[in-house]
Amino acid sequence: MDFRRTERAQLIADLVTLGDLTDPRVARAMERAPRHWFLPDPSEPLAYIDAPLSIGWGQTISQPAIVAQMTTALELNGGERVLEIGTGSGWQAAVLSSLCAEVYTVERIAALGRRARDTLSKHGFANVHVRIGDGFEGWREHAPFDRIILTAAPRETPRALYDQLAEGGILIAPVGEGEQVLVRDRKVGGAIQRDELAAVVFVPMLGGVAA
Ligand code: SAH
Repeated sequence: MDFRRTERAQLIADLVTLGDLTDPRVARAMERAPRHWFLPDPSEPLAYIDAPLSIGWGQTISQPAIVAQMTTALELNGGERVLEIGTGSGWQAAVLSSLCAEVYTVERIAALGRRARDTLSKHGFANVHVRIGDGFEGWREHAPFDRIILTAAPRETPRALYDQLAEGGILIAPVGEGEQVLVRDRKVGGAIQRDELAAVVFVPMLGGVAA
């Protein structure tokens, strides 16, 4: 019995009302990836509040409205191979899981990456692959990717990630220091075309791997 189904349905209904959740496929994907599965005990009761929450190691799980917007902005059709930078709790990757073919996600904090990997496998998100590593390098062995999503903010999108984006692909990222802008970049004829989507606040993207 899933005792939190009502809370989850209420949050999703609120996001629809507020205009943050416009694609019914994304709403279904969020229903299939219950957020409370991805939270440590102290944050778990707050899972269905529309706010970022602590997941330990100074990091946060993203706000549901932002996950809804970013997932929608990826324009997934089901067959894509997606790279995520910043696994964190694993929740964004789980939401992507039912909307595309494969999710490759990279986390620099080893303990977080391991916890996310365990949660994802325990709940059967079999097409999500977690790597402990530095997201500035992407995941070359599995490139090119049809879509790339960053959930930590670099000052500017790392070159390696553009190199690993397929022609026609979309990359969504919060960019900037302090004031960040959520951008959607499309690779068209080898060049990048950029739209600015919204002002956002994400944790910074940091280099190197941490134990
Ligand atoms: N998508 C996550 C949000 C996590 S917050 C979720 O759904 O919970 C952003 C994460 O990015 C943090 O866990 C942080 O450690 C990670 N991060 C920051 N810089 C990184 C880098 N260079 N490579 C990989 N992960 C990085």
